[in-house]
Amino acid sequence: MILIVVLAGATLSLLCGYFLSGRALVPVRKSMDQQREFLADASHELRTPIAVIQTNLEVVKASGDETVESQSTWLDNAYDETKRMHHIVEDLMFLARADSGDVHFEPAPVDIGYLIMEVTERFIPMAAQKSITILSKVPMEELNVMGDEKQLTQLMVILIDNAIKYTEPGADERNKTIVVQAERIEEGIEICVTDKGIGISKEEQEKIFQRFYRVDKVRSRAEGGTGLGLSIAYWIVQKHKGIIRVESEENVGTKMIIVFPSYEGPKEANE
Ligand code: ADP
Repeated sequence: MILIVVLAGATLSLLCGYFLSGRALVPVRKSMDQQREFLADASHELRTPIAVIQTNLEVVKASGDETVESQSTWLDNAYDETKRMHHIVEDLMFLARADSGDVHFEPAPVDIGYLIMEVTERFIPMAAQKSITILSKVPMEELNVMGDEKQLTQLMVILIDNAIKYTEPGADERNKTIVVQAERIEEGIEICVTDKGIGISKEEQEKIFQRFYRVDKVRSRAEGGTGLGLSIAYWIVQKHKGIIRVESEENVGTKMIIVFPSYEGPKEANE
C-alpha cells in the first residue's frame, strides 16, 4: 500500500511540477485546451496501472501470513505495473519537456547507417523470441545527418520496437522479417522500417502520431505500449528538419519512412 502511495505521489508531483511550472505554461504552440486534454489523458493512463497495483497488493494484504513465494503471482503483477508506470512517466516527461522547449539537443554529424546497424543488432534477441528475423541494409558509404545521436537512437528504437510489437509471432514464414534500411536519395537520407505485421488501416494512419492514440488499446497495452512512442518519434523527426510518413495495409504490413536532410560538411569540424 505504501508503494502505491509513493508511486502515485511521485507521479502526480512530476506531472504537476511540469504543468504548473512557469516553463510548461509558456504557450509554445499548444492551446490551454490541448494542455488540459493531455493532462486528462495522462491521468487516465496512470489510473490503470495504479488500480492494478492496488488490487494485487490488497490480495496480498488480505492473505495474512502467507510466504512471499506463495504470493508471487500478485507481487509480480504489481511489479510489472510499476515498470509500466515508469515507462509512461518517462514518455510523458519527454513530451512535457519537448512542449516547454526543455529537451537537451546536441547536434553533431551522425552516420545514420552505422547507428541503424547498431540499434538493429540490439533488437535481434527480442525479435528472435517471436521467431522474427531483423535485418539492416545500409550502404558502405557514410550517411551523415546533423543531429542528436541520443534522440536519433531513441527514434530508431521506437520504430523497430513497434515493428516487432505489431508483427504476429505465428507460424507464417512471410511474417518473419523486418527490414531496417537507409539510403541516399535526392532529397536527403531516407530511412525505412518495413514489417509484415498486422498493418494499419487508411483512417487510422492519420491518427497514429497523436498522443495516446492506439489502434487497439488492449493489444498495445499487452505489448507494453504507452501510445506515446510515435508522437515522440514525430517530435524528434521535426526537430531534425525531417519528415515522417507511413505506408501500410491491414494484414499486409507497415513501412515507416523518414527523410532527413543529408549533412555534407566535414565531420571533424563539428565534433
Ligand atoms: P504504442 O506504445 O501503443 O505502440 P505508438 O505511439 O508507438 O504507441 O503507436 C501508436 C499506435 O500505432 C500503436 O498503438 C499501434 O496501434 C499503431 N502502430 C504503430 N506502429 C505500428 C506498426 N509497425 N504496425 C502496426 N501498427 C502500428
